[in-house]
Amino acid sequence: MNRDIKRLVAYYVKKFGTRDPFRIADNLNVLYQFGDIGCEGCYMYLKRHRYIFLNANLDGPEKEMVMAHELGHAVLHRRENCYFIRNKTFLSTVRIEREANTFAAELLIPDSLILENPGYTKSQLARLAGYNEMIMEFKKID
Ligand SMILES: [Zn+2]
Repeated sequence: MNRDIKRLVAYYVKKFGTRDPFRIADNLNVLYQFGDIGCEGCYMYLKRHRYIFLNANLDGPEKEMVMAHELGHAVLHRRENCYFIRNKTFLSTVRIEREANTFAAELLIPDSLILENPGYTKSQLARLAGYNEMIMEFKKID
C-alpha cells in the first residue's frame, strides 16, 4: 500500500507539475476553505463534493502539512470524514490516518532531498524541509 501511495503521489506531481497540495487540490476539484474550526483540519465528503476545512491559524509549513494530509484523505478515502489533531494524528495507528500521513510525507519530502543529503538523520532532513520531524516516519525511500 505504501508503495502504491508513493506511485500515486509521483503521478500527481508529474501530471500537475507541482508538489503544492493546494495547487494539486485545485487540479483535482477538491474544495478547501479556512475557518475557525476546533481542530487543525478536517476532510468531509458532502453532497458528492470533497471538502477540506483548515484552521485559519495555521501558518507556513504546518498549513502545507495539514493540507497535504487532508488531500491524502480526499484522494484515498473519498467517503470518510477525518479530523487532523495536532500531536495526535501522527501517532494514530488507524489505517487511514497512517495512509494520509504517508501521502503527505511522499508529497512534501521529495526523494531528492534525501539523496542529495546523504548521512543526514531523519530529524535533520525534516528541519531542512521545514516540517515536523514526525512526518519522516512515513517517508519511504527505496
Ligand atoms: Zn487524517
